[in-house]
Amino acid sequence: MNRKEFEKLLRSAERLSEKEANAILTASIMSTDDGSNPCGHLQMIIAMEELAELSQEISKTLRGKGGRLGLVEECADVLIGIRYIQLIENISNETLGKAVAVKLRRLEEAVKE
Ligand SMILES: [Mg+2]
Repeated sequence: MNRKEFEKLLRSAERLSEKEANAILTASIMSTDDGSNPCGHLQMIIAMEELAELSQEISKTLRGKGGRLGLVEECADVLIGIRYIQLIENISNETLGKAVAVKLRRLEEAVKE
C-alpha cells in the first residue's frame, strides 16, 4: 500500500472484531483456492514476504532511513501473516498465547540471571 494512503486511512481506522477479521482472512484464503495448490499456499508465501518486508523496515530504521509509520505498516502486515498461518494450520489463539507465555517466562528467567 502507498505509504501516504496508509497514513490517511490509519487516522480514521478502528479495530476490527476477531470475528470480522477472521471472516476477511478466511474469504481471502478461500478466494485463491483453485485446486492447483494446497489451500492457503499463496497466503503462506505472502506471510514469508511480509516477514522479509518487516526485516527490511527494521534495517532502514537502524540505518536512520526509516520511519515509525513504515514500522507500523510492516508490523501490521506481519500480524496479518501470522493470522493467516493460524487459520491455515489451525493454531488457536489459546495455543499461540500459551506458546508466547512459555517464551516470555524463559525470557524473564534469562533477564534475572
Ligand atoms: Mg508489507
